[in-house]
Amino acid sequence: MAATTETLEFQAETRQLLQLVIHSIYSNKDIFLRELISNASDALDKLRLESLTDPDLGVDTSDLHITLEVDKDAARTLTVRDNGIGMTRDDVVDLIGTIAKSGTAGLLAKIKEAKENKDADAASLIGQFGVGFYSAFMVADKVTLHTRRAGTAQGTVWESDGEGTYTIADADDLPVGTTVTLHLKTADSEDGLGDYLAAWKIRQIVKQYSDFIRWPIRMATTANTADSQDGSESDGAAGEPETLNSMKALWARPRPEVSEAEYHEFYRQISHDWQDPAQTIHMRAEGTFEYEALLFLPAHAPFDLFSRDTKRGVQLYVKRVFIMDDCDALMPNYLRFVKGVVDAHDLSLNVSREILQHDRQITAVRRRLVKKVLGAIKDLQATNTDAYTTLWEQFGRVIKEGLLEDRDNTDALLELVSAASTHDPEKTTTLREYVSRMKDGQNTIYYLTGENRAMVENSPHMEAFTAKGYEVLILTDPVDEVWTDQVPSFDGHRFQSIAKGQVDLDETDENSDEAKADKAQQEQDFAALLAWLQNTLAEHVKQVRLTTRLTTSPACLVGDAHDLTPTLEKMYRAMGQDLPSVKRILELNPTHPLITALREAHETKAEDHSLAEIAELVHGAALLAEGGDLPDPARFTRLLTDRLAKTL
Ligand code: ADP
Ligand code: MG
Repeated sequence: MAATTETLEFQAETRQLLQLVIHSIYSNKDIFLRELISNASDALDKLRLESLTDPDLGVDTSDLHITLEVDKDAARTLTVRDNGIGMTRDDVVDLIGTIAKSGTAGLLAKIKEAKENKDADAASLIGQFGVGFYSAFMVADKVTLHTRRAGTAQGTVWESDGEGTYTIADADDLPVGTTVTLHLKTADSEDGLGDYLAAWKIRQIVKQYSDFIRWPIRMATTANTADSQDGSESDGAAGEPETLNSMKALWARPRPEVSEAEYHEFYRQISHDWQDPAQTIHMRAEGTFEYEALLFLPAHAPFDLFSRDTKRGVQLYVKRVFIMDDCDALMPNYLRFVKGVVDAHDLSLNVSREILQHDRQITAVRRRLVKKVLGAIKDLQATNTDAYTTLWEQFGRVIKEGLLEDRDNTDALLELVSAASTHDPEKTTTLREYVSRMKDGQNTIYYLTGENRAMVENSPHMEAFTAKGYEVLILTDPVDEVWTDQVPSFDGHRFQSIAKGQVDLDETDENSDEAKADKAQQEQDFAALLAWLQNTLAEHVKQVRLTTRLTTSPACLVGDAHDLTPTLEKMYRAMGQDLPSVKRILELNPTHPLITALREAHETKAEDHSLAEIAELVHGAALLAEGGDLPDPARFTRLLTDRLAKTL
């Protein structure tokens, strides 16, 4: 029978788009193979489905698979073959002859506009359209396709150089299925063209992008495809096919059918972490936007958790085809330690990061995943305290960044927070536990931030709280300085820094008239001293006042509610920010002998210039007591030694 050969032109728009696909979309040309394998896999799915619904189809579906064949010598071809559904001649014209069928013109207009405005990544727009098959022209200067539709007798052959035209003809004696033959361009590292004739390269690409395709991907090793770079692996007998993919997409299997050992093995594979994960999350969403997620909470932090460009651990797949690592649209920065896979069924393989960022459905998926992860940590907290404690030690600092980034989940995050506390020298406490121990009448959660536990514990601010038995949280992570300033309360209980604002513990217990009268008297007694000190120390402090927060120290420094803490001030400076120095408030302990003596001295010999030096010493001592830095250590030391010399 005479084959009717037709030469057809691609539509003008298709031609333009084709040039774009070939020359500018992908910097990574390897992905052409993922596209062709994904098409073959779809074709196998379709055939299986059709053979189930149409028993008269008359095809053998007992060995559905994909074969890759390399002809290294004369032809320089790479062939992707499937025994799937195949296409009729009309199908080929329709499906292969027309790229990005729907809205090609519209797409081109958008791309043009984006290019003119120079504001958008024009190529990323392509991600909305299927251009899969045509990616073959990135690596081939000619593509030949042989195909026969299951249930039909006539085969079709299609061929194109990807320029302006393609030919289409009938072909006899074809098996059911599709064979795509790429006449490869020569390898060119400058152009990003790999050596797609090398078996090791094909193996590597399949492993990376198509490992979880459900059908076997076999490489036919003929005598001339054995290559020297992969040693013993390729030494199999000629003609014996090697299966390249594991097909083990655990996430696609029902949860009860997967053993813990399999989960852990899979985790090792994707994370390169030798330790088992602390928690496994496996979920499936059905409905308008179907996806499966298999996520892991690692048991320990990677060394680069805090480096600026740590990758997030969630990979995106579309129907088992690998799309991208580090899918930032699926996991917020503060959960960057979570590892795993999300397989979304209804996305284009070409979907770009930009598109994902703005996709409403992806945003909804992310919201759901975040809830799941936070829920899993909460579960761990309830059921396995040790594992939770370890997890918090490893990742708490990162999770707390969520208190700044993710206002929707503030409450859930606060439930997870664990902190050191004056309640126990070693064990940390949750906020809930803190609240359960609050004293009668206490409705504030007291905390103090600082560089380390010892400094915070020994800070003079602690004195009255310790003396009166109030528990204080000891917060020593840099991020604590920031979130405590922005999150007002937990479960209706206000957070209060004991180094900020006025703390009046007396109010909660001895609130009698008598106490009030005593206090008024005290204020009067000290008024002159306070005014003088404020003037003398104006360079260093913004106010001097009496306090009840001290029991043994003469003085301490505090801030106003929204002042930067000294640690935060230091952090900002370390980051190179130029800040005006933050003046604090000097608080005096009116019952301390040094302070009472100072008051008497000021009353009797206000003119004595050595009093000013003592004022400086009091201020310096308060700074030192909280672990702060003196403005002029040399001067402080001289004043102190002069003073000591006079006492001997
Ligand atoms: P997409 O896969 O996103 O639809 P492609 O450009 O990859 O876009 O493929 C276009 C169409 O061509 C596919 O939808 C399919 O109908 C058809 N097709 C491509 N490859 C094959 C194949 N190996 N077997 C059967 N049909 C195929
Ligand atoms: Mg495709």
